[in-house]
Amino acid sequence: MIDHDVIIVGGGLAGSRAALEIARTNPSLSVAVVAKTHPIRSHSVAAQGGMAATLKNVDETDSWEAHAFDTVKGSDYLADQDAVAILTQEAPDVVIDLEHMGVLFSRLPDGRIAQRAFGGHSHNRTCYAADKTGHAILHELICNLMKYGVKVYEEWYVMRLILEDGQAKGVVLYHLLDGQVEVIRAKAVMFATGGYGRVYNTTSNDYASTGDGLAMTAMAGLPLEDMEFVQFHPTGLYPVGVLISEAVRGEGAYLINSDGDRFMANYAPSRMELAPRDITSRAITYEIRAGRGIKPDGSAGGVFVYLDLRHMGKEKIMSRVPFCWEEAHRLVGVDAVYQPMPVRPTVHYSMGGIPVNTDGQVRSSADELVEGFFAAGETSCVSVHGANRLGSNSLLECVVYGRRTGAAIARYVENRKLPEVNAERYIQDANTQLQSLIDQPGEYRIHQVRQAYQDCMTDHCGVFRTEATMQEGLVQLRELQKKYAHVRVDDKGKTWNTELIEAMELRSLFVVGEMILSSALNRKESRGSHCREDYTQRDDQSFLKHTLAYYSPAGIDINYMPVVINQFEPQERKY
Ligand SMILES: Cc1cc2nc3c(=O)[nH]c(=O)nc-3n(C[C@H](O)[C@H](O)[C@H](O)COP(=O)(O)OP(=O)(O)OC[C@H]3O[C@@H](n4cnc5c(N)ncnc54)[C@H](O)[C@@H]3O)c2cc1C
Repeated sequence: MIDHDVIIVGGGLAGSRAALEIARTNPSLSVAVVAKTHPIRSHSVAAQGGMAATLKNVDETDSWEAHAFDTVKGSDYLADQDAVAILTQEAPDVVIDLEHMGVLFSRLPDGRIAQRAFGGHSHNRTCYAADKTGHAILHELICNLMKYGVKVYEEWYVMRLILEDGQAKGVVLYHLLDGQVEVIRAKAVMFATGGYGRVYNTTSNDYASTGDGLAMTAMAGLPLEDMEFVQFHPTGLYPVGVLISEAVRGEGAYLINSDGDRFMANYAPSRMELAPRDITSRAITYEIRAGRGIKPDGSAGGVFVYLDLRHMGKEKIMSRVPFCWEEAHRLVGVDAVYQPMPVRPTVHYSMGGIPVNTDGQVRSSADELVEGFFAAGETSCVSVHGANRLGSNSLLECVVYGRRTGAAIARYVENRKLPEVNAERYIQDANTQLQSLIDQPGEYRIHQVRQAYQDCMTDHCGVFRTEATMQEGLVQLRELQKKYAHVRVDDKGKTWNTELIEAMELRSLFVVGEMILSSALNRKESRGSHCREDYTQRDDQSFLKHTLAYYSPAGIDINYMPVVINQFEPQERKY
């Protein structure tokens, strides 16, 4: 067994910012970060468009209150407004702090940090490093972890949260390099394990975004909040699904249907292409359904629309969004200076997650907390995004709440002892689980079951939802779960057994998918990204509340938790 004061699972923006805060606050604490990838390959590195903060460098009339209002309206009034106030008030400070660490933000001619427009934001407030913002920030944070001597366990896969008597005591983990199973015991455990885009068949997320932290939390008997809210980003590059950043529209690109019309005029006339993502994704889907999508030969009736940058000119495209140009060129052979890009909605972000308070401590119910367990970043739900996240608010959440959670953990572990853990028992259980995966005489390959599962989730719980399709989805999902017991792991070895990891990740996907479907079935209204064709209106009377879903192999129990509304009264959401 290995001991640390604090163990953080996840080396993305949230995990590394928290680790840094702990090391800065109390250098005598032993802090470790575990990641199943190399930390620099966490999905945060792929973030493109930027990070919102009211620095007022471009627009002096901006204010944290305006940022908070945009965020709450964007969330369709489901965000907790105390958490949003913290997010927006602390934003300028965390950006300046990152700059002092050395993050290379793009500049205005006078040298101050540049800020661009983004969907749903009423002012130009998104700070960026061209369209490689996540890359710029994560590299600097990881350098700082080295500087402060934070221990990093890279390419270790965490399989289980050790939770006994309402207290988190550590994690069980598997070393990809040599198959070794270990227990790390700690006074505080933090999950910063990112999103679950791989639940769906088309996503902007990396291969590691399989929702492991969510699944481990749920399997430990703790609730997950608002899992029905899945963000579809309007502009995934067709057919691959990788992201074309909202920054491209922030810099002026148009969305065009097969008639050559800027169709957003019919859906969000005041914001056009910069409407929030839920509205824009639905608009594209309506256009495609109405036969105004485009086919690869340019004719009508296809499954994508065009994102047109041509009027922006080569110089602007190459200086502001060079990575997006390169993606389209490399992956689908489109030169965006001269040709429009084919795009359609792609699964992008998880608004829901592990419920936490504004110090990042995990909730076991609406009014109780778990001892020693914290979470931040995309895997958590504090809830600043409610039913729909605004672009450039996620990197901000990772840094603001990563920092706050780190500070809270540093206070929490002070004067605490390491808990008692029977490590042998956990190691034995884990080895038995791995061995039975290796030994089971399976008739299915992992990728077959995963593909069928991803298709099932995509077909039954996508941009539009109904009772009948989701019920059918649950039935199919349960059938596929049975097949999981019959998947075959061909690699029986201990060295770099990525197939075994894929088998464990598939289990995570199943748990997360069932939580999404069950939560979505219970919310009989349309709000933000959750759009039900059988309940088309938002219903504040019955559903202005957070879902708390509890997992068990026998089925899922649904509970609810109130929304914090202390600044902005819910109104009809129009753009
Ligand atoms: C293509 C793309 C572009 C984006 N652009 C923007 C943007 O411009 N602005 C914005 O605000 N947001 C953007 N987002 C969203 C934002 O990037 C993410 O929400 C955010 O970076 C998530 O950070 P995180 O620290 O929570 O998790 P991640 O960066 O996803 O890191 C998760 C970490 O957990 C580790 N992990 C997971 N499971 C395990 C396990 N079982 N064992 C061990 N380790 C594990 C992983 O190895 C990784 O280190 C974008 C997202 C994508 C996909």
